[in-house]
Amino acid sequence: MKISPVEQLFTLFNETALILQEELSCSYLEALAETGENLFQGAILQEELSELTLKRLKKQYEEIHLVKYSNEDIRKAFQLVILKGMKENVQPNHQMTPDSVGMLVGYLVERFMKQPSFRLLDPAVGTGNLLTTVLNHVHKNITSIGVEIDDILIKLAYVNANLQEHPVQLFNQDGLEPLFIDPVEAVIADLPIGFYPNDIRAEDYQLKAKEGHSYSHHLFIEQSVRHTTPGGYLFFLVPNGLFESEQAPQLHEFIKENLIIQGLLQLPTSMFKNKNSAKSILILQKKGEGVQPPKQALLVNLPSLSSAVGMDSILSKIEKWFQENKG
Ligand code: SAM
Repeated sequence: MKISPVEQLFTLFNETALILQEELSCSYLEALAETGENLFQGAILQEELSELTLKRLKKQYEEIHLVKYSNEDIRKAFQLVILKGMKENVQPNHQMTPDSVGMLVGYLVERFMKQPSFRLLDPAVGTGNLLTTVLNHVHKNITSIGVEIDDILIKLAYVNANLQEHPVQLFNQDGLEPLFIDPVEAVIADLPIGFYPNDIRAEDYQLKAKEGHSYSHHLFIEQSVRHTTPGGYLFFLVPNGLFESEQAPQLHEFIKENLIIQGLLQLPTSMFKNKNSAKSILILQKKGEGVQPPKQALLVNLPSLSSAVGMDSILSKIEKWFQENKG
């Protein structure tokens, strides 16, 4: 039986990570970042390995030539090994953005962004899966920036980007602290949802809660808007109940002042554990000179993304919306 390229890469990442995990007594995800870095540098970088381990790793690395694989094969295989590692160590707000959502965001970025080259920010980049899915599907010249608070996830994002040869500028910091970056024309983010523990930092935001902790997803929207050029687009994965919470009136006000709602695409609930964790893609545009609201926002309830017929009919509805609203 022929082994697919993704399976070949999965086996390589998995087996070498297991070897390193044991030798370095670290977590699987840390070992995965180490093996990815070895593959990218074309050398075994860990100094404390036994002769036997060195030999075993060398043999595995020599069997595979990364240049023969497409970016999407590398990304998918890396996604699968990360998923395996995350099962060992589940953290609900750290979940990777699934393929299907990334591709949809990629399609939207491609359709909304008219310019041939632009800057793109993901302020909660995690493992880089969403960002690199978008980079692999948008055929434009993109300079990208990622921010992530978790040091293991950002290492994985760094290795992920390197292996796919995407030059991404990465910042390991709290995305709600000041960001030292030039403004961007587009933002994508699968927003961390829930309360932001740092009330002092939240003071800096118009969207801080009147009492108690603020919603980090609200603060992330405001932070992203600060770093977007007038007329720039923002694509966020948000909870379906975004506009129904007790802090929603403030968010409404903020949006009215600064942004235009271009669209809201509700993802199929079957993609999520339950109705309460279901999400939508919110598309916003920052106000600016000459920026016009659409005649009507693009409002869509997506069918199961695996239903080809359902997706076809929705995609033609979306295309029709573009013709009527975006010329
Ligand atoms: N799109 C990412 C991917 O494909 O891997 C997943 C994003 S995940 C839903 C949300 C991310 O936000 C997590 O990686 C989490 O560590 C990060 N995060 C949470 N609070 C943060 C903060 N204050 N600053 C920066 N990143 C933060």
